[in-house]
Amino acid sequence: MTPPGPEPKFLADSMLGKLARWLVLLGYDARYAHGAGVADLELLEAAHREGRVFLTRDTKIPAVAGLRMIVVRGQRFEDQLKQVQRELDLKPDRKRLFTRCTYCNIALEELPRAAALPLVPPLVRELQTPFFRCGSCKRMYWSGTHTDRTIKRLEKLGL
Ligand SMILES: [Zn+2]
Repeated sequence: MTPPGPEPKFLADSMLGKLARWLVLLGYDARYAHGAGVADLELLEAAHREGRVFLTRDTKIPAVAGLRMIVVRGQRFEDQLKQVQRELDLKPDRKRLFTRCTYCNIALEELPRAAALPLVPPLVRELQTPFFRCGSCKRMYWSGTHTDRTIKRLEKLGL
């Protein structure tokens, strides 16, 4: 058995924002090009420089030596996610779920309960869950029905 390599990082083109957010949710470092107007070749270069797998819907992109690229075919993000998982043989680790901000793609920091409570809605304060905050956009994260739903969806996908 080969030891697991470092986890792949991703750069997705602007057509694949939803896919990128789901990869972030799974704990992967996945950046995506916001908005149109960023030339695909620029993205390619950035992916190459940062050692990221380039995810694109553009079938005309030339192959670049040393760059791992996946031309994503499915329309539904579920199919897209499955394709990426299959091609890279990803084995998402449940412990890494919800460890990054899905808006900023940076690692969340855990907040002490006392510091977190004033920052979340009243009903959420009743939950016995650790609280996390994104240091960039200050969004709060916690475990609740939304995370349960997400986990169910991922389980249905076999992830
Ligand atoms: Zn954020």
